[in-house]
Amino acid sequence: MIRFNDVGKRYGDTPCLEGLDFSVAPGEFVTLIGPSGSGKTTILRLVMTLEQVSSGTIDIGGECLTHVRKGDKLIPAPEAHQRRVRRRIGMVFQQFNLFPHMTVLRNITEGPIRSLGQGREEAEVKALELLEMVGLQDKSNSKPGQLSGGQQQRVAIARALAMQPDILLLDEVTSALDPELVTGVLKLLADIAESTDLTFLCVTHEMRFARGVSDRVVVLDGGRVLEQGPPDQLFADPVEPRTREFLSAVLDREG
Ligand code: ADP
Ligand code: MG
Repeated sequence: MIRFNDVGKRYGDTPCLEGLDFSVAPGEFVTLIGPSGSGKTTILRLVMTLEQVSSGTIDIGGECLTHVRKGDKLIPAPEAHQRRVRRRIGMVFQQFNLFPHMTVLRNITEGPIRSLGQGREEAEVKALELLEMVGLQDKSNSKPGQLSGGQQQRVAIARALAMQPDILLLDEVTSALDPELVTGVLKLLADIAESTDLTFLCVTHEMRFARGVSDRVVVLDGGRVLEQGPPDQLFADPVEPRTREFLSAVLDREG
């Protein structure tokens, strides 16, 4: 569903990702872990086309996202091509990124009306179903500022799902939440993963969650994949000393 082919990314002269070569199968839940600055967010932003690769290519659903063929050469894909290929990708951010001046309902219906061509009524019916699923059916007329962080993040998840994505990208979606709100949001995500055939690429520092929900965990370090494997193996018996160091530092903090 997602394939990175020898992807490199630099910001100016500073390398950020190098030789990134991995893929995520349809319906798979892959979690990216690794120290701050190791390139996790950049990977998600490349998939979302918020950043452009410096080398290599990315395929989505068997189609090249980043490049198009011109004669016998590959050239960087025009924006319209990227927009079309990434239309079935949703992303939820650490900072919710809701539209503050719109009601919760409008936040969710705006995308489907504008981008999927849904009528207002259809979009609202679907949005209310999603709000019920995330436990916020009574907040449809509230503004984001009237909600707790955990509730705002549930709205952001509902908004992403309203776009009927095949792929959901999650970037530390609980990092900005008060500790007592984290579990509910993680439980919601685990339920969604369990009950849909969405493909997930998830960045998190919540190791217990990662271990419980992931099919595979990929460890990044300095812009490269350090190792990857099924969560039980990776957490219990990592191969790389750097993985051990990272895990013991994070797990100490979790207590
Ligand atoms: P992570 O999410 O793992 O903490 P990031 O992908 O955010 O890592 O960042 C990886 C590296 O790229 C860091 O060294 C960071 O400073 C750098 N970086 C990220 N975004 C930018 C940017 N827009 N401009 C310049 N450097 C950036
Ligand atoms: Mg990050």
